[in-house]
Amino acid sequence: MNREVSYFKQFFISVVIGFTILFIASLIWNIHGENLSTYELAKVEAEGNFNKDLTFRRWTATHGGVYVPITDSTIANPYLNFLPDRDITTTTGKKLTLINPAYMHRLVFQMSNKKDGQFGHICNTSPLHPENKADEWEEKALKLFTTGTEEEYYSTELINGKEYLRYIKPMRVENHCLKCHANQGYKVNDIKGGISISIPMDKYKPILRAKIKSIIFNHLIIFLLTFIVGALSYRRIIKVVRQRDASRIKAKENEEKLKEQNKKLIWANEKAIESDRLKTIFIQNMSHEIRTPMNAILGFSSLLLDEFDNKSKLTEYTKIITQRGNDLMFIINDLLDISKIESKNLSVNIEPLNLKTLFSELLPLFHEIQKRNEKSHIKLVIPTITEDLILYTDKGKLKQIFTNLVGNAFKFTHEGKIEIGMKIDNPRFITFSVKDTGIGIPPEKLNSIFDRFAQVEQSSSRLYGGTGLGLSIVKGLINKLNGEINVASEINMGSKFYFTLPYKKQNLIMEYTNPNNNINHN
Ligand code: ADP
Repeated sequence: MNREVSYFKQFFISVVIGFTILFIASLIWNIHGENLSTYELAKVEAEGNFNKDLTFRRWTATHGGVYVPITDSTIANPYLNFLPDRDITTTTGKKLTLINPAYMHRLVFQMSNKKDGQFGHICNTSPLHPENKADEWEEKALKLFTTGTEEEYYSTELINGKEYLRYIKPMRVENHCLKCHANQGYKVNDIKGGISISIPMDKYKPILRAKIKSIIFNHLIIFLLTFIVGALSYRRIIKVVRQRDASRIKAKENEEKLKEQNKKLIWANEKAIESDRLKTIFIQNMSHEIRTPMNAILGFSSLLLDEFDNKSKLTEYTKIITQRGNDLMFIINDLLDISKIESKNLSVNIEPLNLKTLFSELLPLFHEIQKRNEKSHIKLVIPTITEDLILYTDKGKLKQIFTNLVGNAFKFTHEGKIEIGMKIDNPRFITFSVKDTGIGIPPEKLNSIFDRFAQVEQSSSRLYGGTGLGLSIVKGLINKLNGEINVASEINMGSKFYFTLPYKKQNLIMEYTNPNNNINHN
């Protein structure tokens, strides 16, 4: 994957993870806040209740208590029997009893506690009535008040398995309290008790649940919207990056194509220059190659008249004239051949050819070449063929190929041997080779050696003679016969030209070289 695309992918994944963490944190924070505010609400309710209870108590205390009729549930307070006017009878004979603030609260709380689950309790560390005795939680709070650590105290507690917010505030002894409590040693401003309110949390739970649901819903909507917008932006960015990359790649490809075309143009230009140069050299060579035999022919022809009576001279000059005439003929034939190959006008005559016959006919020709090149000291090795091997090819062309290659071998070899090889190691091809121990071909020339007019050294035409057409004719002929030619060579060690031709005999692996069959023309 493209580096930039994978970077954006990683970035997008990180942003999604980051946002998810943020949303979860926000969700937890909001739910927690909502939970706290529910307890705050319960506390406000408890505080309100406390203030109302305290006001009632004060009002009752400032009046030194209130008189109420005695009933089954409201009996005379036995803890006030030290007061002479605890019980009174009205002028109409109604019996009333004095209700002090603590007793009143106890009675009111008994009534309300039964009703709505929330309950209040007036508590004291040393109450007159045992019911007003502070429980453990209240006692702990009262202790905090008397030491001055807290002004109010609240917490959530489990009572009978239900959750309550418990709230308590102290009550300070006021003057009017002394009426009932002076005998207990109370002094004004002392903290002797408090009122505790317990609010059941049950009633806040449905509200809390609804709020939490709404928080979750809002968060989900925001999260989904953010995610969709993010994903769409991500897709857009990736598309733009990919499009930009594609156009970059396209531009690079075009640049490469241009470079390639440029290279081809440069190569074609170099080739054209080289071909032009070779043509010029070729024309120079050609005029030299034609002029040399022509000069000989003209020179010896004019000498013929002077030596008309001298039979031996006449024979010698005629031979030279014929020889040079043949040389001219070879050059003209080569020119004709190359023009036929180039214009694709070369025709072949495929017929069965017995290789035994081929080599028996080639041998005198090789002999002739060797003689003409004055290389009788060089060994010539040809394959020994005992059986009849039939090849379907153009005999004349194949002979031309061999005479050309063997002609070059003799021309460029001064010592050693020339070896003709034949191998059938592939059911579809036969491989012939012409190997010499001559001057060799430099590696940088091996690729161009089969091009027309190509010669290793420009001076070689003068040193060795030749037009530079032979190998390109050989290659053209072999290609026409559906074969291929190649060369391996090493400077001063020799060269091996090897070429393949189609062959039909199946499953045959044979090598035809016979070192014993050397033909040494010493
Ligand atoms: P020509 O022999 O007329 O110059 P060819 O096309 O036959 O032209 O050969 C081209 C060149 O290849 C030769 O000039 C020579 O430099 C090199 N060459 C061909 N055959 C051999 C060989 N057997 N050994 C060394 N060089 C060779």
